[in-house]
Amino acid sequence: MLSIVGCERESGSAAVSRAREIMGTFATLTAIAPDKAMATAAVEAGYARLEDVNRLMSDYAADSEIGRLNRLPAGESLPVSPETFECLQRALEVGRVSGGAFDVTCRPLVALWKSAARESRLPNEEELARVRSLIGTDKIILDAEAGTAARSMYGVQVDLGGIAKGYALDLAAEAMLKAGAAGVLVDVGGDVRAIGTNAADKPWRIGVKHPFQQGIYVVLELSNRAVATSGVQQRFYEIDGKRYSHIIDPRTGRPAEQSPSVTVIAADGLTADAWATVFSVLTIEEGRQLIAGGKTPQLEVMWITGSVAEPIEEKTAGFDSYIVE
Ligand code: ADP
Ligand code: MG
Repeated sequence: MLSIVGCERESGSAAVSRAREIMGTFATLTAIAPDKAMATAAVEAGYARLEDVNRLMSDYAADSEIGRLNRLPAGESLPVSPETFECLQRALEVGRVSGGAFDVTCRPLVALWKSAARESRLPNEEELARVRSLIGTDKIILDAEAGTAARSMYGVQVDLGGIAKGYALDLAAEAMLKAGAAGVLVDVGGDVRAIGTNAADKPWRIGVKHPFQQGIYVVLELSNRAVATSGVQQRFYEIDGKRYSHIIDPRTGRPAEQSPSVTVIAADGLTADAWATVFSVLTIEEGRQLIAGGKTPQLEVMWITGSVAEPIEEKTAGFDSYIVE
């Protein structure tokens, strides 16, 4: 559960890297700092922020802010931390720019499909219609001045699973810089934020998992960027032998018929994470049109479809500049 790698850089700086289980996945935090004590402190400061996000925003924990929001009487306001507020606010913004493809109120749909899969059946039309009436970011009310969140009707539930991990990367990286790190790599479940350079004073190297087999599909070189991958390969339900994505298309109420793997490179972790989910909901064509419309943040995207025998990749124009092998 814990690995420590320490090494002195030629330039007189130290690298410390620690892996831990957190947020339902594995994380590895690496800091490059003037000395080993500072690098270690930076890594611990990063983990403290990952713990914060988990404690505040997990929808599994009933006593997290999101857990409490999900049980609040309709119309009642809950004061939330600045972190939860920012994450919710930016989630609603991605929802708006993506035309509703990203929707943090998808939780009742996620739950419906999960319970149907457990019973080896598809949800029926009546169930879908009932649950769909609870979906929509207009049902979340944020008050920036008061720092509160509320839901407009009973049954509306928030799930930050498509964005909180990315936001956690950013908060961890920020804390690590503040603790004195010059180079930072935050990896939570394969979503990564890279700042500065590595122990060899080179851009950080990050492998993107192969969607169809064990191992790495491509290696990226990143500095001051984040990368996130959404894919059907690790998390899915199976009903009648057909695999269904854990990502829901809020426009239909059904699991996204997504590309097996979508990788997004962006300036920050929240953006990369949330938009990887967006491009898993949208078709490649819809995704390309949205980017061409010029309203999305700066993004590079790689979609992988096809099969193990013949993977097919599509990329935005600038993606290749990050690939090293
Ligand atoms: P992971 O990195 O864990 O595979 P993703 O970043 O792809 O996850 O996000 C998937 C999670 O986001 C789902 O498990 C669910 O909690 C939530 N989710 C599912 N569909 C949507 C959607 N359309 N918009 C926002 N969040 C979603
Ligand atoms: Mg995501």
